[in-house]
Amino acid sequence: MQVFEKNEMVGGRASYHQDKGFTFDMGPSWYLMPDVFERFYADCGKRPQDLFQLKRLDPSYRIYFEGGRMVDIHADLERNFHLFDELEPDGASKLQSYLDSAKQIYELAIRDLLYRDYRRFTDLLDPKLMSQGRKVPIFKSLESFVNQHFQSDEARKIVEYSIGFLGGSPANTPAFYHIMSHIDFNLGVWYPEGGMRKVASSLAEMAEGFGAEIRLDEEVERINVDKRWVEGITTAKDTYRANAVVVNADYAHAEMSMLKPEHRTYDQRYWEKRTLAPSAFVAYVGVDTQYKELAHHTLFLEKDWSEGFDVIFDPTKAAWPQNPSYYVNVPSRTDTTAAPKGCDTLFILVPLAPDIEDSEALRDKFYLKILRRLEKTIGEDIIGHVVTKRIFCLTDFARRYNAFKGTALGLTHTMRQTALFRPAHRSKKVENLFYTGQYCHPGIGVPMTLISSTIVADEVASRSRGL
Ligand SMILES: Cc1cc2nc3c(=O)[nH]c(=O)nc-3n(C[C@H](O)[C@H](O)[C@H](O)COP(=O)(O)OP(=O)(O)OC[C@H]3O[C@@H](n4cnc5c(N)ncnc54)[C@H](O)[C@@H]3O)c2cc1C
Repeated sequence: MQVFEKNEMVGGRASYHQDKGFTFDMGPSWYLMPDVFERFYADCGKRPQDLFQLKRLDPSYRIYFEGGRMVDIHADLERNFHLFDELEPDGASKLQSYLDSAKQIYELAIRDLLYRDYRRFTDLLDPKLMSQGRKVPIFKSLESFVNQHFQSDEARKIVEYSIGFLGGSPANTPAFYHIMSHIDFNLGVWYPEGGMRKVASSLAEMAEGFGAEIRLDEEVERINVDKRWVEGITTAKDTYRANAVVVNADYAHAEMSMLKPEHRTYDQRYWEKRTLAPSAFVAYVGVDTQYKELAHHTLFLEKDWSEGFDVIFDPTKAAWPQNPSYYVNVPSRTDTTAAPKGCDTLFILVPLAPDIEDSEALRDKFYLKILRRLEKTIGEDIIGHVVTKRIFCLTDFARRYNAFKGTALGLTHTMRQTALFRPAHRSKKVENLFYTGQYCHPGIGVPMTLISSTIVADEVASRSRGL
C-alpha cells in the first residue's frame, strides 16, 4: 500500500509548526471520544497508550462570558452540578437529565448509527435503525432542544459551544448532537503528551508497521480510470498502478481536479449547493511570559453570539466578524515541551465564513483586534510579549490542504448533510474508488474521521472479496 501526501509531513489538518523553541499543533487540540480512539487502535492491535501518554485535563476548559464572568468546567461532575445550580434554579438536576439523554443517544449512536455506511435510502429503512431512530431527536434544532432544558444564557452556552467542533451553529445542527455534552462532561477532555501531532505520527507508524509506504511532498494530480475501473494515479513525479484507490484529500478538490466529469459522483453544482463548515483565522503566538488566566482550553463567548453564526452561515451576510466569540489553546499549560521555560504557546482561533476576502491587511487588522480584546479580558499585556507569530487563514487552508473555498472542516452537520446525505464513501461511477475523511459520514473531527476510515476499510475489504 502507498500513501501519497502533498505536504512535507503527515497529519493533514493535524500538522504542526515550530519556531524559536515553540511548537504549535496547527489544527485539532481537543482529544475527545477516547473510546473511539481505543477501538481504532485496538483494530490495529494496539492501545493509544502504547504510542503516547494520555492525560485527562482538569479543568476540562474555562469559559469567559462577555461582561467578565469566568467559569471552569471540571473533570469532577459534582463540581459542574454545583456550577449549574449557581447558574439557574434546579440547574444540577436539569444538567443531570440533559446528560442522561446525551449518554443514551451517544451509546445508541456508537452501537447502531455511526459505524455503518449509508449507501441508499433503503439503508435508513432498516427496522432496527428505524426503531432506534425514533429516540434520536434529528428533526429539532439543538438550539430549541437546549432552550427547552435550560433558561439561563450561560447554561445554554455551556452546552451549546461544543457544536463548534462540528462546524455548525445551534440553529442549523440537529438536536441529536447534544451527544457532544456527554462527550465533554462524561467522557472527558484529554491531552496526548507531545500534542495532537502524536496521534498523527502514531497512525503513520502503525501504517508503516503494516507495510505501507508513505510518500511525502507528492501531490496526486490525476486518478486514472478506464471505463468503470481505477487503474492507478498520477502525481507530479510518476504514475502508479493500483487495485483500489482511497481518497482522503478534500472530496470536492479530488472529484473536481483529479477525475474527468464522467467519473465524478458529484458535479460542481452539487458542491456549490452544500453548506460548508467554517474556515478559520488561526494565530500561532509564542510569548515570553505565562498567563495563568488562560487554562489549557479557554473559550471567550459573546453575549449575542448569533451575529457570529450569521456572518459564517448566512451567505448574504458573510464577512469578517465584528464581535466574534473565539478560543485560545495553551498547550504549554500542560506540556513543558510546547514552549521554552517560563513562556506560553498561544493558539488563537476564530471561525470565519469560507470563501470571503483574505489579505495580509485584513489579517493584521483582525489579529490586533483579537489580541486587544484578549488583553482587555484577562487584564494583561500580550502584544508586548510576542516572540513569534504566524497567521493561518482562508487562503492557507486552500493552498496547504486543497480545501474547497478554504473551509477548515468540510461540510457542516445540517439535517440535509447527515448520514446518507453526506458524500458517499464509495464512488457511484467507479467500482474500486473510495473516499474517507471529514466530508463523509460520520463527519467532522478526528474521532469521526477514524470512524470514517473504519467504514471505508470494511468497504474495500468487502469489495475486494466480491472481485
Ligand atoms: C483549526 C482546526 C481546529 C480543529 N480542532 C479540532 C479538535 O480540537 N478536535 C478534533 O477532533 N478535530 C478538530 N478539528 C477537525 C479535524 O482536524 C478534522 O476534522 C480532521 O483532521 C480532518 O481529517 P481528514 O483526514 O478528513 O482531512 P485532512 O487532515 O486535511 O487530510 C487530508 C490530507 O490530504 C492531503 N491532500 C490534499 N490534496 C492532496 C493531493 N492532491 N495529493 C495528495 N495529498 C493531498 C492534505 O494535504 C491532507 O494532508 C480541527 C480542524 C481545524 C482545521
